[in-house]
Amino acid sequence: MMNIAIAGVGLVGRVVALNLLAKGHQLTLFDEDSAYGEKSAGVTAAGMLAMFAELETAESIIYEKGCRSTCLWQDLLNQLDINEAYQQKGTIITAHPQDYGELEHFIETLKFKIKDALEIKSLNKEELYALEPDLEQHHKAFYIPQEGQVDAQQFMKTSSDYLLTHKHVTWHQRVKVEEVKEGALVINGTKKSFDWVFDTRGLGANEVIKELRGVRGEVIWLDAPEVTITRPTRMLHPRYKIYIVPRPNNRYIIGATEIESEDKSDISVRSSLELLSAVYSVHSGFGEARVVKTMTNCRPALKDNLPFIEQGSKLTRINGLYRHGYLLAPAIVEEALNKGVYKHDKD
Ligand SMILES: Cc1cc2nc3c(=O)[nH]c(=O)nc-3n(C[C@H](O)[C@H](O)[C@H](O)COP(=O)(O)OP(=O)(O)OC[C@H]3O[C@@H](n4cnc5c(N)ncnc54)[C@H](O)[C@@H]3O)c2cc1C
Repeated sequence: MMNIAIAGVGLVGRVVALNLLAKGHQLTLFDEDSAYGEKSAGVTAAGMLAMFAELETAESIIYEKGCRSTCLWQDLLNQLDINEAYQQKGTIITAHPQDYGELEHFIETLKFKIKDALEIKSLNKEELYALEPDLEQHHKAFYIPQEGQVDAQQFMKTSSDYLLTHKHVTWHQRVKVEEVKEGALVINGTKKSFDWVFDTRGLGANEVIKELRGVRGEVIWLDAPEVTITRPTRMLHPRYKIYIVPRPNNRYIIGATEIESEDKSDISVRSSLELLSAVYSVHSGFGEARVVKTMTNCRPALKDNLPFIEQGSKLTRINGLYRHGYLLAPAIVEEALNKGVYKHDKD
């Protein structure tokens, strides 16, 4: 058993922690936020596992790691006893008639990048109606059966409960880690030593990972009793792309903007107008929905928008998961752990 510290208990930090606990290690966690706080981008995320749709602007590695992650998520959620937080009912991609060119181009790009995308199914009005009756006003769509989602907020809450009560975990909340070194963390100017340390501070690691940047994302939560959409649905548009991600009890996450800025302040009027008018155009029942809350956060990204693993002596840094944290974290953490000395079970 090793004595391991994790700096930053956001999405990646939790996935690391769950893996290391399964291997029997002793963990000390540090986060500048509270265990149920909202500083982690992992709390803001919609949790979509869109290994095909993300390929439009990403590399094929995202697809490969995304497929692997969908298997690994089921083990992680099983560890937390929340299997229902994983859904794989596929996603719908649609557009208004004037934007069918966008829709066709989007799908052609995916097919060009990965041969498995040839299986993406084109839907006419009747087929779409059979799958999602509430999208009946749309005449054309595509269906990607392999895609799914993790209920990000349920994962974050339940993992907090689990880690806070685990006998092999000590969680220091609201503690800022000033420096992450090989085998040590610096907190309030004092060095604390461990057998191994993980730096999973997301954007908070930008002092050491110089090219790290934040990409602002805004989402709106709606309570829409008049709408029943059961699968994540993307609406393509020449200027903005929105998604609608269903949550239990007719709640929907509408997202997400993507703005090159590290500003985490509240959602702007422009973004609200774009997201809400787009969602209203998908289904008029959203007109009577209630805005439950809005959330803003920044995705930690590197220049190539690809994930980053750095392995030192007694130190692993994992970062740059950008807009793919849920899609990639389990597979990226698996890759990182396979490189380390702590890979052996119960050593
Ligand atoms: C609007 C939005 C929608 C998204 N939707 C999706 C989606 O549908 N699918 C998907 O796959 N991904 C999505 N993402 C991306 C995903 O949320 C991120 O890729 C992921 O959260 C990054 O994980 P992380 O652990 O690196 O960073 P974070 O989750 O941000 O966690 C970092 C943690 O480190 C802590 N920290 C920072 N600095 C310090 C310090 N000095 N000391 C101590 N603690 C510190 C923070 O408090 C935080 O808890 C979305 C992101 C946003 C913003």
